[in-house]
Amino acid sequence: MPFQLDDYDVAILKALMKDGRKSFREISRETGITTPTVRARLERLINVGFIKSVSPIFDFGVVEENIFENEDQSRNKKRYNRQQLGDPKSRIKKGMKIKLDCEYCKGPIAGHPHVFRFANYERFFCCTGCISGYKQKYAGRIESIIRKFEEKEY
Ligand SMILES: [Zn+2]
Repeated sequence: MPFQLDDYDVAILKALMKDGRKSFREISRETGITTPTVRARLERLINVGFIKSVSPIFDFGVVEENIFENEDQSRNKKRYNRQQLGDPKSRIKKGMKIKLDCEYCKGPIAGHPHVFRFANYERFFCCTGCISGYKQKYAGRIESIIRKFEEKEY
């Protein structure tokens, strides 16, 4: 007899399709299904072979493109274009740079970023002034994220 999806399975899968990084608890909160049920349903969907894996989706738009350093430009340009069309595996390597824009003024971060950490978030800024501006602007939201995070931790 085939295994049939019910409303729970569908709700859980839809939550995961939006963002595969969600924890059982986050899916539970979003769907109203209890955490143990979310876990059991996901395990079953894996066991029946429907969920093969949960893979990251990359945004190569945020990668810096100055990979031609110290080598012949045209040759590398060709290689680079090929890499772009090919498998992301060939592009992800040590030294690959991910561009950071300031979370507050949206300008590029030239030097070392100023990092503001709260709950399980990290936000990057160009200067301490922008951190203060951000903290002020989003004080309510930041506080609520920290509160939710601490509830989760028990
Ligand atoms: Zn800034």
